[in-house]
Amino acid sequence: MTKDDCLFCKIGKGEIPSATIFENDEFKCFLDVAPASRGHALIIPKNHYSNIFELDKAVAGKLFTLATDIAAALKEETGCEGMNLIQNNGECAGQTVHHFHLHLIPRNSGDRVGLGWPQGKADLDDNAKLAEAINKRLQ
Ligand code: 5GP
Ligand code: ZN
Repeated sequence: MTKDDCLFCKIGKGEIPSATIFENDEFKCFLDVAPASRGHALIIPKNHYSNIFELDKAVAGKLFTLATDIAAALKEETGCEGMNLIQNNGECAGQTVHHFHLHLIPRNSGDRVGLGWPQGKADLDDNAKLAEAINKRLQ
């Protein structure tokens, strides 16, 4: 499953070069070309899934298992103190490449990486109703 016009499908197939950290039949992990910090890496499935809503569940499980190993290696190699794992879905959520990818961003105290959002104040009644409604969809 590939898309001819997809940048990350091309990187997955090696048609576009990347600084590759890890690769097997199903996944590729490579360094971001415009990193938020040194070692900023992306993990992709080689098959094309646009986003979390399309991603195959078994692939998701394997990808996150792989992420635990890569995160550990990245932390050891860069000496970072912490790490953000970020995954954007949809343009409104900041996704610019519409092939599922997980960002691993090494972090250090005092770095200038700008992530975060202004905190809202939850309506606790609405939270309770919403949680129940979503839970029903999971039955
Ligand atoms: P998104 O905004 O979709 O969550 O993240 C896309 C990421 O892909 C960005 O961090 C961007 O810097 C990275 N990126 C875009 N084009 C390329 C490329 O050609 N090579 C590599 N290595 N990274 C890319
Ligand atoms: Zn793709």
